[in-house]
Amino acid sequence: MAATIIDGKALALKVRAQVTEEVAAFGEPVCLATVLVGDDPASHVYVGSKHKASSEAGIDSRDHRFPEATPESEILELLEDLNADDAVDGILVQLPLPAHMDEAKVTRAVDPAKDVDGFHPLNAGLLYLGEPLHVPATPLGVMRMLAEYEVELKGADAVVIGRSEIVGKPMAMLLLAEHATVTICHSRTVDLAAHTRRADVLVAAIGRPGFVTRDMVKAGATVIDVGVTRTDEGLRGDVDKAVAEVAGLMTPVPGGVGPMTIAMLLSNTLQAARYRRLGVAVPGS
Ligand code: NAP
Repeated sequence: MAATIIDGKALALKVRAQVTEEVAAFGEPVCLATVLVGDDPASHVYVGSKHKASSEAGIDSRDHRFPEATPESEILELLEDLNADDAVDGILVQLPLPAHMDEAKVTRAVDPAKDVDGFHPLNAGLLYLGEPLHVPATPLGVMRMLAEYEVELKGADAVVIGRSEIVGKPMAMLLLAEHATVTICHSRTVDLAAHTRRADVLVAAIGRPGFVTRDMVKAGATVIDVGVTRTDEGLRGDVDKAVAEVAGLMTPVPGGVGPMTIAMLLSNTLQAARYRRLGVAVPGS
């Protein structure tokens, strides 16, 4: 039987409608500032859609774009100003940064209370400790989809392929927090298919089109495709389409995880505004 396709687009619209309502009810302006350095066309598209989505949700946004050759010190100074600016609730530095910049240093310069991407080590640490504050939007969106489709996580075998700081690792932590038995696979994993075939929930975050094939998937499994690669045939995910013949639930690309990421970013921005204005203490900041 063919898998049920998880409609990320529809769910993202639902989340965005709720955020819009809550922003209106919040009674104070909510503001997201983005910082983009360089000419990467995909990054410009991503940042553009984040601003469009913010505006549709009633969230103000500030768009800081710099040429490739901008010195790191200039970005650090801007971040200092944005951190100190009481009107700014969320700050997002679009990655990747140009090669002459120290990505970790720039990421750490964002006030953890305004770090709506959840990339600051303090936010990563809080997630690890099971006391999350701001969680990266992509894995958070995956969790929202799993909840919406009532996927049982307690005691489930969950396999995450990929161990990046922005997807794989936080994904694994979130699944663990829901009592899944989590395996993290990566490029040095021996016999990857032996792991994936055990998975009740399989999350692919690799960046290799069609990498997960139907023989790697257990019948009835929930398969989440985080991967997005631009190819001549358009956007492609990490999961081969034929996996739909064995999976129980599956996300499409496009229209799956991608729209959820933006929706959760808006939700994180509203949360940052709430926490900061209500004086919720952020440990260590
Ligand atoms: P990344 O930092 O490049 O990480 C890729 C991971 O895949 C690494 O951990 C790598 O292992 C692993 N990997 C590579 N080749 C492998 C192989 N042959 N077997 C097993 N594991 C392998 O990428 P990322 O930032 O996590 O993003 C992953 C994908 O998700 C990309 O396609 C990206 O565009 C997409 N993405 C989508 C969204 C969205 O909103 N839809 C958001 C973020 C990312 P090692 O650690 O051993 O190198």
